[in-house]
Amino acid sequence: METLNPPAMLKWLAEKDPQRLQTLYREAYACKLRNVGPKVYFRGLIEISNICAKNCYYCGIRRDHRDLQRFSMTEEEILEAAKTVHDLGYGSVVLQSGERQDAAYALFIENIIRKIKNLTAQKLGITLSLGEQTAETYERWFRAGAHRYLLRIETSSPALYRKLHPEDHSFDARRNCLRDLRAIGYQVGTGVMIGLPFQTYEHLVSDLLFFREEDVDMVGMGPYIPHAGTPLSWPAGSYDPADHFRLGLVMIALARLTLRDVNIAATTALQALDPSGREKGIAAGANIIMPNSTPTAYRKFYQLYDNKPCLDENALQCRSCLENRICGGGDEVGYGEWGDPPHFLKRSSGSRNISSKAT
Ligand code: SAM
Ligand code: SF4
Repeated sequence: METLNPPAMLKWLAEKDPQRLQTLYREAYACKLRNVGPKVYFRGLIEISNICAKNCYYCGIRRDHRDLQRFSMTEEEILEAAKTVHDLGYGSVVLQSGERQDAAYALFIENIIRKIKNLTAQKLGITLSLGEQTAETYERWFRAGAHRYLLRIETSSPALYRKLHPEDHSFDARRNCLRDLRAIGYQVGTGVMIGLPFQTYEHLVSDLLFFREEDVDMVGMGPYIPHAGTPLSWPAGSYDPADHFRLGLVMIALARLTLRDVNIAATTALQALDPSGREKGIAAGANIIMPNSTPTAYRKFYQLYDNKPCLDENALQCRSCLENRICGGGDEVGYGEWGDPPHFLKRSSGSRNISSKAT
């Protein structure tokens, strides 16, 4: 394959021939095997609250979406869900929620992190996806035992960011959060939505270059999917799920070929557009899957976009369903392991001694 410079990336983003695309996916899959190995790691995703102080124009749980019952899981419920994730053999849990920056929430999360660690004899890895916070809060959560943080930049273009968010949401503040997280010692993940209104292929190329410049350890990106109750609308009838799906896979493959030794997630949004979306994501170079481990009673209140999948299956059903699909494709699941990205291990070797195995 030719060198993956920006013109080549642009060419692949425009490529629609299924056979030629398969050569890209195969190349990215081989690159994954060489750089991060053959295992797929599961992270149990617990959506702990849909209360959000922000108002991103695309998101189904934004503050001004009034027509939505709000929930916050109790400490007991979160611990029980984390225990289930651990018992299922997933090496890590991801705690995700709408954004809250108040002191009570920071303390609540800090305590939960400590308790999850104690409950699982320090074995369960903890990833957070709780939005923008002060460096001090990030530091407290890190000291309590969280070691990875996912914060999508959403788009690397400040001008496009401005179109997707109200005035008081800041691209620079979000990027600075990524830098704070890195300085504190987290494994840092970011990502973008793919196929946003106003987004061009050139924007997507810049996104890939942004991941490289910020030297991220993990990438979690997926197709943008409209939510009817949000202000961001897609011109009527022109949203093409198949093309959004294609772009989602191409971006995974290009990210793998550009960044090589990072972890890349095959996200739920891929599955929303194609029932085998996550397996196809794995075949295009991803190595992480985040099975929904939120108690089923709460899932219908965490609809970021229309037709979000897996509303009814419980965590165990999710695991067997995924395992069959992954192993059917010839991949192996890394049960009981943290599955840290080699990229992080390389850049931190010598400075911090963090185990790459939970057991
Ligand atoms: N509040 C935290 C934050 O924004 O970082 C974490 C939760 S937020 C729901 C997680 C991600 O959901 C966002 O970073 C965004 O990329 C994604 N998301 C929101 N609305 C979406 C949509 N309509 N389609 C696809 N992804 C969406
Ligand atoms: Fe809130 Fe995150 Fe949704 Fe923005 S993307 S409205 S911060 S939950």
